Amino acid sequence: MRDSKPLGNKLTDSTLKQPAMPGLANAEDEAKLFLSIGLDQRTATNALANAKVTSNLSAVIHEAEVEGGCDKAIGNLLYMVATKFPNNALNHRAEFLKYITSGQIKNAPQLEAAFSFFSSIGPSSFDEKEFEKNCGVGVEVSVEEISKVVEAVIEECKSQILAERYRINVGILLGKVRKELPWADGKTVKEEMDTQLRNLLGEKTEKDDEKPIKKKKEKAPKSTDADLTTQTPSVTQEVSNPFSDFPDPQKNIQVHQEIFFSDGTIWRPKNTAEKLEKHLQFTGRSVYTRFPPEPNGYLHIGHAKAMFVSFGLAKERGGYCYLRYDDTNPEAEKQEYIDHIQEIVDWMGWKPFKVTYSSDYFQELYDLAIQLIKKGYAYVDHQTPEEIKSYRESKTDSPWRNRPIAESLKLFEEMRKGMIDEGKATLRMKQDMKSENPNMYDLIAYRIKFTPHPHAGDKWCIYPSYDYTHCIVDSLENITHSLCTLEFEIRRPSYYWLLEALDLYHPHVWEYSRLSITNTVLSKRKLNRLVREKWVDGWDDPRLMTLAGLRRRGYTPDAINAFVRDVGITRSDGSLIRLEKIEHYIREDLNKKSRRVMVVLKPLKVVIKNMEENVVMNLRAKFWPDAADSEESSHYEVPFSRVVYIESSDFRLKDSKDYYGLAPGKTVMLRYAFPIKCVDIIYAEDKSTVLELHAEYDPAKSTKPKGVIHWVSEPSHGILPLKVEVRMFEKLFLSENPSELEDWLADLNPNSKIVIAEALAVPVLKHSCHGDSYQFERLDLSTMLVSQICFGFGWDAQKSYFCVDQDSSADKLVFNRTVSLRDSYVKVSGK
Ligand code: ATP
Ligand code: MG
Repeated sequence: MRDSKPLGNKLTDSTLKQPAMPGLANAEDEAKLFLSIGLDQRTATNALANAKVTSNLSAVIHEAEVEGGCDKAIGNLLYMVATKFPNNALNHRAEFLKYITSGQIKNAPQLEAAFSFFSSIGPSSFDEKEFEKNCGVGVEVSVEEISKVVEAVIEECKSQILAERYRINVGILLGKVRKELPWADGKTVKEEMDTQLRNLLGEKTEKDDEKPIKKKKEKAPKSTDADLTTQTPSVTQEVSNPFSDFPDPQKNIQVHQEIFFSDGTIWRPKNTAEKLEKHLQFTGRSVYTRFPPEPNGYLHIGHAKAMFVSFGLAKERGGYCYLRYDDTNPEAEKQEYIDHIQEIVDWMGWKPFKVTYSSDYFQELYDLAIQLIKKGYAYVDHQTPEEIKSYRESKTDSPWRNRPIAESLKLFEEMRKGMIDEGKATLRMKQDMKSENPNMYDLIAYRIKFTPHPHAGDKWCIYPSYDYTHCIVDSLENITHSLCTLEFEIRRPSYYWLLEALDLYHPHVWEYSRLSITNTVLSKRKLNRLVREKWVDGWDDPRLMTLAGLRRRGYTPDAINAFVRDVGITRSDGSLIRLEKIEHYIREDLNKKSRRVMVVLKPLKVVIKNMEENVVMNLRAKFWPDAADSEESSHYEVPFSRVVYIESSDFRLKDSKDYYGLAPGKTVMLRYAFPIKCVDIIYAEDKSTVLELHAEYDPAKSTKPKGVIHWVSEPSHGILPLKVEVRMFEKLFLSENPSELEDWLADLNPNSKIVIAEALAVPVLKHSCHGDSYQFERLDLSTMLVSQICFGFGWDAQKSYFCVDQDSSADKLVFNRTVSLRDSYVKVSGK
C-alpha cells in the first residue's frame, strides 16, 4: 500500500486493459450463442445492441467453455459477469468462471461479493481460501433456514409492519435477512418474505394501494437552513431502497476505492485524520451531494436519473444537495440554459440546498493552480492540440514539461493578464505520461479563451478545465458522495491525483450507469444538433426526451421520478431501457389524473333524419368512468343535435359478426346518448367516397346495440363543433439504438409527428388551459380491436392521453398526444 504523500507521477489505471476477445463472430452467431446459455430474448437483444457487452459476453462464454450451452441459471450469472466483472481484475476472470460453472458460486449475493473481492485485490494474486470465505463458497442455505430468519425479522419489525402494512420498505427487511444469511438465494428470500407478510397482513386491500400521506417535515439539522422536505419527490415509499449501497458518513466514511500504479502497487485515496476532522466539522456527518450539470443545453431524462441519485440520496439520508452549474467552458454555455436548468430542477420537485457555480470558485481555483505549479505539479505548455494528441499517443513528454517552476509561474501570470494569444499556451498538470490511462497524460488545467463568461462576466480570460475544476470544487464544497456516470470512472485517478497533489479533502466518488432509452438520443451534443439544424422544433419538442420536451408532451414529474426509481442505480453498463417502460409510468399516472372527454379525430358526418333541425339536447357525460351521479363536478354537458360526427374508422360498408361499429342498416350506441341506425349513405361524385351518413335515433333507447362509439355534435343548428388541432407523436428514431449508427440522422422517423389540423371536440374542452391533460375516450374494447387503421396509427391513436400544448390560443386549442393507452410494457421483465 502506498502512503498518501504527493505523488510520483505514476498513477495509472488498469481499467483500460481489455479482455481477450474471441474471434469476431457475426451478429447471428452471437445471438445464437447468447440464447444457448439460456438468456431470454430481450436480454440477448439488449446485449447485442451494445458492442461492449456483446464482446464481453462472448469472451465470458468462451472463457467459461460453455459454447455448447448451459443451464439458464448459470447463463444469467455469466451475463452478470460480462456486465459487471471489475475491469481492474480481468486477469482473474477465467479462473473465477470455474466457480460458476462448477456450481460453487450460484447466486447474485455471492457474485457481488466476488466482484467486490476482485475489485479490491485488482490484478495481484490472491488467496483462494480467503476468496472462498469472502464469497460463501460451499455454504448451503436451506429454505428452512431462510424461513426461520424471515420469521425472526418479521417478528422484530412487527409493530412497524402492522402500522405501514404493504407500504413497509421491504428492502430494509430483506437487508436484515441478508445480514444474517448473506449467501441465501435472493429470490427465495423475497418469495418467503412475501408469503410471510401475506400470512400476517392478509391479501392487499384497495386501501393499501392508496397514496400514502406525506411524512411530516423533518427537523433540519442545525448546521444549515436547507429545506429538502416540502416539495421533493418521495424517495422512501417503494419496496427496495436504491440508495442502500452508498456508505454512511455516520460511519466516518473513508474513500475506499483503489487506484493502481504501473508498478503494480495499489493506492487508496484516504483522508488524513486532520482533513477528515475538518470535513466532518462542516458536514456534521450529514450527506452532502451535488448535481453538476453543464449549462450547455437543456436537461434530459438521463439528468432526471442523475438528479434522482444525488438529490434523492441527500433526501433519503436527511442531507443536502447542491445544484452546481459546472460552467467552465464559456463558449458552449448560455444564460438561457442556466435559467432553464434551475426552472426544470424545480419542476422535477427537487429543492437544492444551495445553487452554486464552478465559476464562483475561479479565484480559489486560480490560487490553487499557482500552488500546483510551485509544487512542481503543473507547467505552462505551448504544444498545439495536434501535438498534444500525437505526444499522448506516443506517451512522450512535452518539451516544456520540465521547464523551471519560475518560468511557468511567470507565463501563467501572463496568460491570466491576456498577454498570450489564445491557443499559444495552456497550463498542464504534470501527471504520468507513461501511464496506461490516457486520463493521466498531463491533462490540461487551464486554457486561454478571450470569451466573456455567462456567470463570471469578463473578469477572466483563462478558464479551468473540467478535470481540474470538478474535483477541487467537490472538495471545497465538502461533498461526501460525488456521484456521476460510469464514463467518469476512468477519470478517477486524475480526480484523486489532483486532490492529493493539493492536499485537499477526498470525497467519496461512486459511478452509476448512464441511462439510455431506445429509439432516442440523449447526448447533449446530438440533441444540440437536432435543435440547431431544425430536425425538431426546439429543445422542448415533445418528441425529444429532454425534460422540457417530456413536459410539453404531457409527462409529469411523478411519472418521470417513478420511472427512474424503477430503473434503479446500478453499475451495470450498457443498459438500454425500453421506451415502453417510461410510457408505462406516465400511463399509470395519467390514468389517475386525466379527465375523460370525447374528441373525433377524423370526422364523418351523420345526419339524424328523425330529429328536428333546431333541437339541441344537453346530455350528461362523465369525466371519470366511476363518477357517481350525484357528483356534479365529475360530469360535463354535451350537446346532442341533428348533426353528429363520428370517427370515420367507426363506419364500415360491410358489416361482419365481429364488428362493433356502424354499418348500413346496423345500430350502434352513441356514448351517453342514444342508439342510432344507419339508414342511408351519401357518396361523393366518385361514387365511392362516403361523404355523410343518414341515420335514425331511438329516443326510447329500446334497441340494444352491439357496440358503443364516441361522437361530437353541432352545438346549435349549422354551427360546427369545436375544432382543435391534434399532434400525434411516434418514436423519433426508427432503430432502437440510433447512437450506435454512424449516420444517426438518417434513422430519424419521417412519421414521428403527424398533425391533424381539424379534429372535432366536445364544447367543454374550450375552457382548457395549457398543460391540462385528458384521455380522449374510446369506449368499447371490442370496437377498438376491429376498427380500421386510422392515419396509420391504428385504434390506439384515438384512445390515448393528450395534453394542451403551449401553442394553443383563444381561437384554437392544440393537443399533444402524450401516450397511447396500449401498455406493452411487462413489468416483471425489468427492462
Ligand atoms: P451529455 O453527454 O448528455 O452531454 P453530460 O454528462 O455532459 O451529458 P452534464 O450536464 O455534465 O451532462 O451532466 C450532469 C450530470 O448528469 C452528470 O453527473 C452526468 O454524469 C449526469 N448525466 C448526464 N447524462 C446522463 C444519463 N444519460 N444518465 C444518467 N446521468 C447522466
Ligand atoms: Mg458534462
